[in-house]
Amino acid sequence: MSDSTNSAPFPHYVDTRKVFSQKGIFGGELSKDKLPRLALMLADGNFKAEAKLVFSNDDRGRRLIEGWVRAQVSVACQRCLMPLELSIADDIRLALVSDEDKASKLDDDVEPWIEPEFKLDPVQIVEEQLLLSMPLAAYHEIEICGASQTQFDAPEASKAAAQDKSEPNAFAILKELKMSGSSD
Ligand SMILES: [Zn+2]
Repeated sequence: MSDSTNSAPFPHYVDTRKVFSQKGIFGGELSKDKLPRLALMLADGNFKAEAKLVFSNDDRGRRLIEGWVRAQVSVACQRCLMPLELSIADDIRLALVSDEDKASKLDDDVEPWIEPEFKLDPVQIVEEQLLLSMPLAAYHEIEICGASQTQFDAPEASKAAAQDKSEPNAFAILKELKMSGSSD
């Protein structure tokens, strides 16, 4: 599963009563506007996100969603606040369940994805996995970081520079999202 060929483009939603037995395979590139929660974390700059999801039933009757996500994104360096490019990637191995109770009974070779309705938005799964792959804070290598040694020695100056940025700290938002996303 190293590329997104032989897959249909991501639909707005799939019907969970059919997609597993029909072995749905979806993949391709996703634009920033399809991933609004991820977009909140990002600075202007290069962006590319790609994913593949395969829906199947396993021999134990579990509804599996397997695949991968990968992306090149630009975030603000938490030292100098200038753009920093990151590559993120992760494998996906989820089992669809309808509630928390069923989720708690799953073996730990899979992560639960809880959806009580028949409608499932595959792009939401991709976005969640990308969010989980983002580092809590990212920094340039010290040699190329825009923050000079002078700034490190002068906390007042760097504090003033930080206040000039009216945007909320992207990584604080991510932390909040993660906490609100995990209700177990
Ligand atoms: Zn930097």
